[in-house]
Amino acid sequence: MAEKEELRSVHVQVADLAVKSDWSAIKIMPSELPALIKMEGKFQKLLQHCQEEVYPEELKRLKAKKTLRPTSRLMPLTPFLGDDGLLRLGGRLERAKLPYDVLHPPILPGNHPLEWAIIGAFHDSMHHVGTDFVLSHIRQHIWITAGREAVKRVRNECIPCRRFRPKAALQMMADVYQARLGAREPPFTYTSVDYFGPIDVIYERGTVHHQVASWIRGASSMEGWSLTIVA
Ligand SMILES: [Zn+2]
Repeated sequence: MAEKEELRSVHVQVADLAVKSDWSAIKIMPSELPALIKMEGKFQKLLQHCQEEVYPEELKRLKAKKTLRPTSRLMPLTPFLGDDGLLRLGGRLERAKLPYDVLHPPILPGNHPLEWAIIGAFHDSMHHVGTDFVLSHIRQHIWITAGREAVKRVRNECIPCRRFRPKAALQMMADVYQARLGAREPPFTYTSVDYFGPIDVIYERGTVHHQVASWIRGASSMEGWSLTIVA
């Protein structure tokens, strides 16, 4: 029994070594997208390798002509094994007059470096457009699981996009005045005045008059009153 378990553990380790790859250096240029879409050259092997790494159980069962387990993450996509050995999207559009690759794109995980590289290439080639536009375009060729999150991640790490969509810094507010925190004191025990202006008011015939406006706010207690005066 112990010998069997040991053998199984060695087998698992060998299988892991055979399948796991270092994807950190993967880079796909926008000029390579036509070859990727047609699954030419290295790309078919890359996609196969990625699927073997992420969906080994599903591939094993489909190759053995078995149905997927109900608990499989891919079950809602009704995947099948294409002639090229890739896991492809199923669906109910079989009768639609669309190309095979559009009806049944290969399935790739959205949380994988290969997919981030592919999204990055599409994103660059489409001149840094928004998430939905990129995602819908990619899904005509490759079906990404959790695709919206994957595209958002790539956009968030894209330097030009970060430069084009800066977030305004939030100003830290100072502590509230002591006078505004008093309790059990009648209204207008303390008052404050905020000024703004002057405001140019245009009357008829283009006459411009400078007006100064202000408002007075009773801000003394929990029963604060407010009075606005415009002069
Ligand atoms: Zn970008």
